[in-house]
Amino acid sequence: MDESTLFTKIIRGEIPSSKVAEGSDWYAFLDINPHRPGHTLVVPKEQAQRISELSVESRRSLLDGVVEVQRRLSIEFGTTDFSVNLNDGPLAGQEVPHVHFHIIPRIPEGTSRPIWTQTKESSEPDFAMLADLAERLQAH
Ligand code: AMP
Repeated sequence: MDESTLFTKIIRGEIPSSKVAEGSDWYAFLDINPHRPGHTLVVPKEQAQRISELSVESRRSLLDGVVEVQRRLSIEFGTTDFSVNLNDGPLAGQEVPHVHFHIIPRIPEGTSRPIWTQTKESSEPDFAMLADLAERLQAH
């Protein structure tokens, strides 16, 4: 892939993101249009569209990134349960052509934290809320 993807630009800091955590081979940040509170994306720093195109090192450390993000989200949301999803190619629903795991903490329905103000219906991302949450997650 010649052109930099949106996520490569985020990793390089050319586009802002709400950073959650970072490893030598991966980067994690809050999804700008979260399905649920805490929805985080974990991406390899190596640019590739599908997991089969990643180097063995990137592939392995990506899962370390997933678990590290889960650890932080566990503390923040008081849960050990997560939806972990990866759309591996456009026919699978992948919109950004750069490998990424969606990590979504799962808590009992109706117990969303009061801090959470953004809803699926919101047209604009709540950047202040995302920044605030990212700061807390970085500290965990
Ligand atoms: P997918 O449909 O699996 O390719 O998921 C792409 C995800 O990237 C979606 O959940 C988007 O909300 C998210 N997304 C797109 N642009 C940004 C951005 N600038 N910052 C954070 N997340 C983004």
